[in-house]
Amino acid sequence: MADISFAGQVAIVTGAGNGLGRDYALELARRGAKVVVNDLGGSGSGVGASATAAAAVVDEIRAAGGEAVANTSSVASREGGASVVNSALEAWGRVDILISNAGFLRNGRFEDLTDEQIDPILDVHLKAAFYVGQPAYRAMRANGYGRMLFTGSASAMFGHAWQTNYAAGKGAMLGLSNVIALEGSAYGIQSNVLLPTANSRLAAEMDQGFMEIPAFAQALQNADFSTSDGRVVPEFNTPLALYLVSKDCTATHGVYSSNSGRYARVRICAAEGWVAPRGATPPSIEDIASHFDQISELGDFSEPMTVYDEFTAVAKAARKQGVYP
Ligand code: NAD
Repeated sequence: MADISFAGQVAIVTGAGNGLGRDYALELARRGAKVVVNDLGGSGSGVGASATAAAAVVDEIRAAGGEAVANTSSVASREGGASVVNSALEAWGRVDILISNAGFLRNGRFEDLTDEQIDPILDVHLKAAFYVGQPAYRAMRANGYGRMLFTGSASAMFGHAWQTNYAAGKGAMLGLSNVIALEGSAYGIQSNVLLPTANSRLAAEMDQGFMEIPAFAQALQNADFSTSDGRVVPEFNTPLALYLVSKDCTATHGVYSSNSGRYARVRICAAEGWVAPRGATPPSIEDIASHFDQISELGDFSEPMTVYDEFTAVAKAARKQGVYP
């Protein structure tokens, strides 16, 4: 197939000074995009700031003949988000691609998490998606074209101990992206979520103390990274991330997993369930208890792409179960 090109397009990658974002920025630029390399340059737990992380990636892109500008604002504030998008508009007058990727971890047991572990994590993962996403969306809408990719996490979709703060922020990407995809479809804007995996600086932060969790230690043993041919590196996430933000990709409203060279769609499904008897009287708690197996049974599930789809699925189940005529 023909090479996928980003020539003439303007891309913003947040948190592009290290890890996954760095590799996304380098490859976008290599394929012709003009890139805003945003990075605050703090530590893996979000402490401190430095202009060097973003500058080094910009230098690397320019040395290879590409076009890039650095932005060192924090995406965790309204002004920072606006500044990131303004960097693109001031340099090149448009925004075609946003990869919302910046982030860090502050792990802890649910019962022990302090506001210093909760608020900054929600700010950098959840609120930053609004702070950068809204001005980027407005710029895309003005041009009738856009590709947004929000960075979720398997920790949120599937669960990972000691990360309720992070999972709450990352899980929110699902709802945010789904609705952007619906609203954006009228303006050529697509939105998806990527659940990446990489042995980055952030992953090193995550591993601290985690071996105490028996299931985690077992999972690492099962994954047997020693035989995975070094696939747990940022570079293995870049092909799917960049395909999802390319012109060639028509998929929107999706969640995709990239893990050690396995690329897969992740679905949220609703079971057929149990439909309560007709009439305006709600079922009792005991009715729920006695139908709980049927409620939990995933055999005949559907994948509602909107709330409206879910209403349709409920009506279908009600007819199938003889509750509606
Ligand atoms: P990383 O630490 O290597 O890179 C993240 C970058 O974000 C850093 O350069 C950091 O300076 C920057 N950043 C942090 N706070 C910022 C802020 N307020 N404003 C601007 N930049 C900021 O980590 P990574 O593994 O490359 O992670 C990238 C994204 O992928 C994160 O959102 C992370 O949560 C997510 N993720 C990573 C993994 C993994 O296995 N590495 C798994 C799931 C999700």
